[in-house]
Amino acid sequence: MKLVLLGPPGAGKGTQADILIEVLGVPQISTGEILRESVKNGTPVGLKAKALIDHGDLVPDEIIIAIISERLAQDDCKNGFILDGVPRTLNQAETLDRHGIGIDHVLSIEVPDAVILKRIADRRLCSNCPTTFHLVSNPPKEAGICDACGSSLTTRNDDNIETTRHRLETYHLLTEPLKAYYEGQGKLCYVTGDCTIEETTREILKTLGID
Ligand code: AMP
Repeated sequence: MKLVLLGPPGAGKGTQADILIEVLGVPQISTGEILRESVKNGTPVGLKAKALIDHGDLVPDEIIIAIISERLAQDDCKNGFILDGVPRTLNQAETLDRHGIGIDHVLSIEVPDAVILKRIADRRLCSNCPTTFHLVSNPPKEAGICDACGSSLTTRNDDNIETTRHRLETYHLLTEPLKAYYEGQGKLCYVTGDCTIEETTREILKTLGID
């Protein structure tokens, strides 16, 4: 199963991917997560990407393509993967196709901008591991503490209103055209993201023919 999760920032791509890795038995690949890790570790890619991420701009395609090519070549991707937050431009999608990485399904998680802007303010991230939380829909068991590793929770630098507005504009301008691209390939399905996490998961599984 080679799956792409499309959708604006805060649509729930990461949350759904976390659930789907259990069901489908394939890894989740989030370029945002890989980039944040690179920033944390001060790698050359991280140093180039930090200001762009903090401003809500996209990281250049060449960097993303290098990251994703290296990740997809790893052994655990042999039986499939869930791409979360990539491709994000037409060039990235075309490059995946040119490299013969045949995507099976593309799920567009639909959430109105007004809901995203409210939702993102309540998003929390573990300061140590990739686990994410939402204070309303997916709160930690103990306030401010990661359920998975016990570290403190923090907010992402780019999860403020101004940056989120810019990320939404970028999404509509550069990423949304991917819907038409994948629709043309007969791979696109829409799912509702403006509901509970469980409802979206159910819709995704039904769409994929898994019950
Ligand atoms: P995300 O965690 O998917 O919201 O990504 C966080 C940030 O990382 C984005 O706002 C971009 O700056 C950068 N980023 C992640 N994935 C990509 C991508 N596929 N193309 C360009 N930039 C990306």
